Amino acid sequence: MNEYDSELVRSLLKREGFVFTEDRERADVILMNTCAIRENAHNKVYSHLADLKAIKKQRPLVVGVLGCMAQNLKEELTEHQPLVDVLAGPDAYRQLPMLLTSAIQSQEQGLDRKGLAVDLSEYETYDDVVPERNDGVNAWVAVMRGCDNFCSFCVVPYTRGRERSRDPDGIIREAQQIAAQGFKQVTLLGQNVNSYRHGSWDFARLLTAVADVSGIERVRFTSPHPKDFPTALLEAVAGHPHVCKHIHLPMQSGSDRILGLMNRSYTNREYRALVNRIRSLRSDIVLTTDIISGFCSETDAEFAETYRLTEEIRFHNAFIFKYSERKHTIAARKFPDDIAEPVKAERVTKLVDLQRRISHEHNRSYIGTTVAVLVEGSSKRSDSQSTGKTDGNITVVWDNSLIQSQPGDFVPVPILDASASTLFAHRRPQGQEILF
Ligand code: SAM
Ligand code: SF4
Repeated sequence: MNEYDSELVRSLLKREGFVFTEDRERADVILMNTCAIRENAHNKVYSHLADLKAIKKQRPLVVGVLGCMAQNLKEELTEHQPLVDVLAGPDAYRQLPMLLTSAIQSQEQGLDRKGLAVDLSEYETYDDVVPERNDGVNAWVAVMRGCDNFCSFCVVPYTRGRERSRDPDGIIREAQQIAAQGFKQVTLLGQNVNSYRHGSWDFARLLTAVADVSGIERVRFTSPHPKDFPTALLEAVAGHPHVCKHIHLPMQSGSDRILGLMNRSYTNREYRALVNRIRSLRSDIVLTTDIISGFCSETDAEFAETYRLTEEIRFHNAFIFKYSERKHTIAARKFPDDIAEPVKAERVTKLVDLQRRISHEHNRSYIGTTVAVLVEGSSKRSDSQSTGKTDGNITVVWDNSLIQSQPGDFVPVPILDASASTLFAHRRPQGQEILF
């Protein structure tokens, strides 16, 4: 969502004549747009700010912090970070050209006027702004913004405000433009993407309509909440040839008491039942998840329930996070962050080890088969190798000498080897393992 928001910001600034450079030495303005979900994102911004201090001592420079971080840390950033000139929250990007122009003029006059726009809106969806997209095979499209779920650990409802959905006509028009520009894949975005609702349109209808757009070969969506999976949505995923057979289904915990404290609105049993419904419709749907470990008051026995449920469901992959207390959230106000750091770390390690074993087993089951891959480009490790994703979002790597391909092509790739994170069209030397 932050990448997508940066594309919106680029578009809004370009319209007003701002020009972009990747070289920060040449920049008059440096903007940081980042997430505030966990402590490490927060720390990264502070370390970048420390770097910029040296540049700002030597020459005029306007520094701006955008998005969730600006929203969440407005007092802290304005009072304790004299370096920051402009703050613009996720609903205030339209004001950014004016804020930056005024900050540049203020510096020219030797003044230190701050620009601050952090009001949240109940209506802003940037429906009329065409994002200035990065090249590639995938185009992000936000279909809704904000979140009304108030999971107790999560800062999103405070940084991004109330849920609001875009008009489906605008979304479908955008998907048609994306197809005309040559993108092969669309990823529909929203904090709680499957609670999308606009008049009589729900998310299943929208997903199907986007997948029907000619030229769009793959449609993905993220992040859904387990509470919003009506049969029509599951059938759209299982049945539509252009909807990817992958569902990211954040579980968070396997303990009912912890799920209750998290305000997740489902139980371990309901979550498991949803997984069974998905798998009974189509056994090849790839399931991935998010898990938080070390949430307030989580006991060893409750952690063991999460471990057992992860082991039982056998997700294809999982993002496993240490609980990180976030300012303003219900958990920060009501529950002490009382699990010691080494205990949190040990629990995360146990889950990561379990998941790595399961991911490796899943991936090994592809050896000897041929998978259909949407080519993304050169692999990170070598220009003589290419990479792409299966329909289930599994990364595949092959030697260019074996298969010649261009980004955007669909190629069949025979799988000869697998790590926990990647399928390979060649056998790797013994002992070479890529971790995820
Ligand atoms: N909307 C999605 C859902 O309902 O699950 C999740 C979106 S959230 C941006 C991505 C993931 O970050 C969450 O699923 C959760 O596992 C993790 N997360 C959010 N807040 C966190 C916190 N305070 N500490 C650790 N992990 C957190
Ligand atoms: Fe945060 Fe997702 Fe819960 Fe919304 S549904 S509060 S984004 S974790």
